[in-house]
Amino acid sequence: MAKKERSLLIFPFSFEYEELKDESLIHNLFDQIKLIGEEYVFNSLSVGVSWPPLEEEELLELKKSVQYSLTAKLESDLGKKLDFNAQEAYFLIDFNKNAIFLTIKPVYIYGNYCKLSRELAQTTHFCRKCGGKGCSKCNNSGLTTSESVEQLLARVMVPAFSAKQLVFHGAGREDVDVLMLGEGRAFVAELVEPKKREVDLSELAEKINSEFKNRISVNSLKYSNKVELVEVKNSLHDKIYSAIVTCEDVPDLDSLKLNEKFAVIQKTPVRVSKRRVLKDREKEVTLLEAKPLSENEFELKLQTTHGTYVKEFISGDEERTTPSLVSLLGVKCTCKQLDVLEIL
Ligand SMILES: [Zn+2]
Repeated sequence: MAKKERSLLIFPFSFEYEELKDESLIHNLFDQIKLIGEEYVFNSLSVGVSWPPLEEEELLELKKSVQYSLTAKLESDLGKKLDFNAQEAYFLIDFNKNAIFLTIKPVYIYGNYCKLSRELAQTTHFCRKCGGKGCSKCNNSGLTTSESVEQLLARVMVPAFSAKQLVFHGAGREDVDVLMLGEGRAFVAELVEPKKREVDLSELAEKINSEFKNRISVNSLKYSNKVELVEVKNSLHDKIYSAIVTCEDVPDLDSLKLNEKFAVIQKTPVRVSKRRVLKDREKEVTLLEAKPLSENEFELKLQTTHGTYVKEFISGDEERTTPSLVSLLGVKCTCKQLDVLEIL
């Protein structure tokens, strides 16, 4: 989930209104902001000042002049662009709380990932028993799976950007035991509170690909933004899958009509019914290829519309998906293995 941008408390101060009249407070505040400016790299900034309710005319004037002097000094002395719309850093000088707060805009990196392991989740989930605190069920890790694509990316990207954490946003997801092959699936990595904003992305991709060989690979990394993040999360894509199907009896594969799109109605699958709303979903499926592997096992290539539950299309999910491979072949089928070959 996207985290709301948080503010860091960077400098508590105390002041008397009297001090606002001379320049010493401004200098003091400026020095603190400058120190932070050396720690965090940013190209543009804006400054806000928050005050207790001021009645006296004189104090209102002071407020304006403090804001103006600080802003002008920051722009000229730090050589940063003042930009309220595209600010990478926002300094709030809060005279209510007597502190300077800093909000650093995340860095967003767009890319595609391939998942080459059947023991890797896409994102990190907290242990359901303990909710993340750590218990005997999760070996005190607080997490359901030992590792995720999100965690592996974070291991390289968080230090590269000197960020606080990485939040992963994928264009859909696949199950832990499903491979993501082909050109991969689009994602946006959100680097929270980065101290660096410019990193060589081809070097970064190389590092990820060599460090996690046979587990994940990434391609097409580029700098991104929040608008693209939302597009990626909401994008709907057809997918091509390869499934290994095991049948209870010998299936008549010639009876399957290939390359013909048909509608499939899926009720919310049993395995996700605790998490999802119960409703009928209409999806489209095209069977592309059925290749026998043994007497009662075959490899099925199929194309489906966004959000089709493929394992359930194969098994029929106790007739909650119709038609299904079971109803088409007239034999009991289960999905033994599944890979995403391509996202269209
Ligand atoms: Zn636990």
